[in-house]
Amino acid sequence: MTGYVHSIQSLGTLDGPGVRAVIFTTGCPLRCIYCHNPDTWKKEAGEVFSSSELAEKVLKLYPYIKNGGVTFSGGEPCVQAKFVTEVAKILKARGLHIALDTSGAVDNEDTDKLLELVDLVLLDVKFTSSEAYKLNTGADLAGVLRFLEKLEALGKDVWIRHVVVPGINDTEEDIRALSKILEPYKCIKKTELLPFRKLCLEKYEKLGIPFPLRDTPEAEQKRISELEELLKR
Ligand code: SF4
Repeated sequence: MTGYVHSIQSLGTLDGPGVRAVIFTTGCPLRCIYCHNPDTWKKEAGEVFSSSELAEKVLKLYPYIKNGGVTFSGGEPCVQAKFVTEVAKILKARGLHIALDTSGAVDNEDTDKLLELVDLVLLDVKFTSSEAYKLNTGADLAGVLRFLEKLEALGKDVWIRHVVVPGINDTEEDIRALSKILEPYKCIKKTELLPFRKLCLEKYEKLGIPFPLRDTPEAEQKRISELEELLKR
């Protein structure tokens, strides 16, 4: 089958263990206020690949990524879960570690099949109250928490990645609320706080879409370190 791909990053080191190929698929039902990839929102904006073509392209990097793996990101890769599953099957058959970078907001039978193949899930909980989640992403926090429950039941390894935005979710109270949500889950092996950045401004301008956080300052590393300390406690 065919699917839509925004781009492939050849040798990433941030999206899972080791050196990895990162496949950015297109299509996302969310509209996070801090989104860095508005050019991945529309599925049809991506380049069309067959599953074998995409796998072949990634396998050219095999010598570099054989001890790391492949991460599917986006966009929201679960929008094209069937396609991603086909590609992941080919790559996994070559012994590659498969990670899925997801919001957890697309959860259906196709996603379940994809999860069977995945070794690691990178999950972004984003906001800790239903109101804030709805307001800042357009989606429901309850669905994401159900997804996390599912990962726990499946015993999948999960890394939480949480973008911290000044004035929006950067108080000690926000981080305590996050910690409380995550506390019961044994599947969570790591929690990372990522500073809000504005490197995406040019993309928004090109697309003619207003960036909602244009006037929000970037997060300072010092603040992130303080909140990480709080999270450890
Ligand atoms: S889930 Fe990711 S790609 Fe989709 S809008 Fe949010 S940040 Fe952007």
